[in-house]
Amino acid sequence: MSVNIQAVSCGIIQENAYIVSRDGRDDCVVIDPGDDFAKLQRALGGRPVGAILLTHGHFDHILAAGPLSEATGAPVYIHEADEEMLNDSVLNGYADLMGGFFQGPELKASPLGERFSACGLDFDVLHTPGHSRGSVCLYLKDEGVLFSGDTLFQAGFGRTDLHGGDVRQMLSSLKALFKLPGDTRVWPGHGCVTTIAAEKARYRV
Ligand SMILES: [Zn+2]
Repeated sequence: MSVNIQAVSCGIIQENAYIVSRDGRDDCVVIDPGDDFAKLQRALGGRPVGAILLTHGHFDHILAAGPLSEATGAPVYIHEADEEMLNDSVLNGYADLMGGFFQGPELKASPLGERFSACGLDFDVLHTPGHSRGSVCLYLKDEGVLFSGDTLFQAGFGRTDLHGGDVRQMLSSLKALFKLPGDTRVWPGHGCVTTIAAEKARYRV
């Protein structure tokens, strides 16, 4: 079986939200619903959403999570170390980049464990701190697919100077990711799809 991955670029920072489903199934998981609820709804086309997974707590990855959860009934999940960022405009970067404070209903989320299954998809949740304390990468091992959030990009990695960032943790997280099979396709939170092998080749690890 394989998976369908639909990227939806959201908001002024062009964050990548992903709609992920099993071949032959209608229901789907949404990863990192950024700041374009209407665009995400159009892309979903009424398909049932089983879960909303957040790779970390920055505002550009989470702003449509509340409305999407309300519209679809899908629960929201995030690593517990980033939970404090969800409703804090300073910690999640909204105040800095957008100016002012986000006004909206409180976003509630459940903690992500080491594994997560929904809609026929079995994710390994890899804790990869460095960009934030609770950053995770979502790994579909059998399909060789990794959703890397803002940890690993094509030709780069996430900032470590924001709340909870730590460059040493980032380096050890990247080293851990580079142990995955080289042909693993990496779908990042910003920019284009890449592979573990292509990114590993840029570093002396
Ligand atoms: Zn981020």
